[in-house]
Amino acid sequence: MSDPIDPKRREFIGLAALAGGSLLLTGADPLFAASNPNIHSRGYAALDTSGKLVPWTFERRPVGDYDILIETKYASICHSDIHQMKGHWGPQHYPQVPGHEIVGVVAAVGSKVTKFKVGDRAGVGCMVDSNPECASFKAGEEQYCPETVFTYGYPEASSPSGISQGGYSNNIVVKEHFAVHIPEGLSLQEAAPLLCAGITTYSPLMKWGFKPGDKVGVAGIGGLGHMAIKLAVSKGAEVYAFTTSAEKVDDIIAFGAKPVVVDDLAKLAPYSGQLDFMISTIPVDYNVAAYAAVVKPYGTFTQVGMPERFEVTLSAIGLAFSRVNFNASLIGGMPETQEVVDYCAEHRVLPTIQVIPASEINDAWEKVVNKQARYRYVIDAATF
Ligand SMILES: [Zn+2]
Repeated sequence: MSDPIDPKRREFIGLAALAGGSLLLTGADPLFAASNPNIHSRGYAALDTSGKLVPWTFERRPVGDYDILIETKYASICHSDIHQMKGHWGPQHYPQVPGHEIVGVVAAVGSKVTKFKVGDRAGVGCMVDSNPECASFKAGEEQYCPETVFTYGYPEASSPSGISQGGYSNNIVVKEHFAVHIPEGLSLQEAAPLLCAGITTYSPLMKWGFKPGDKVGVAGIGGLGHMAIKLAVSKGAEVYAFTTSAEKVDDIIAFGAKPVVVDDLAKLAPYSGQLDFMISTIPVDYNVAAYAAVVKPYGTFTQVGMPERFEVTLSAIGLAFSRVNFNASLIGGMPETQEVVDYCAEHRVLPTIQVIPASEINDAWEKVVNKQARYRYVIDAATF
């Protein structure tokens, strides 16, 4: 079969793809559209480390045998999106579309897909691919597979732009294994934040395995922290919420926790050695040992917030005084992601959200950085 693409145009496409630039394909050229099986996508991308996003048109790979195409309905804003686009975690490839809390409706399925059918409600979180032969994959902890492709900014040979492109866009192509079902009865906009904020806090809480009545601390009450409170409260814990924002106190009480305003580290002293477990979502560098001191000797302190350069300040002697078990945790596996979505649907553990149009993303990002989010911004994908 002859190739209908003009050689000059082919050269342009090749260069644009190499540069990761927009192919500017609108479907206006029927010959081209017929010969190009890629999925046209429209979203918001970072072009540099400025922390400002702009509208961007790009392409995703065609729907493969094990892929599903999701028409995005909502995508929510995680502090990680901001850190990564600004280069806080290392140099980035641009243009890059952030977003790893994605929900929508399945619009197409590959020939070997068994888990989804067209019309199903589906969600995608922080991962889009990994090696099925890996022991971590087989254990349902795909996040620990060394070959895992995270949802945006990771090298991905199948992507026309060379990297995975995230959820601030009107669609996504993903292996069916990395999508979860969104149960009826859970709104799509409230489901979105569960795909990162929900699983990231649920997984360490479940792994630690508390009993009703145990004292659980949550440090940093933003998108992740408010989910940690709601999940721990729903599981029967007595929850203490540590925040630097006095204006969040009423919300924290409504979420079911006891507020502790930490405008001075001395405020932590009355809680020294009191808690069974503490989870910290604080996304900036801070003095870990001061917070870990509120945990009982041999208790557990889990860090899930990921600051610039992934660095937090540890005092060995501070941790030594209670031999606290300090660890850090990265999201959760796919089976557990489905579990938290189902759990939240069944028990009505829902994020507190504000739905915004795409045109307000840059403003919302500033509010997230300035601790003004209440508590998750959810972008209406119809506005991309
Ligand atoms: Zn996230």
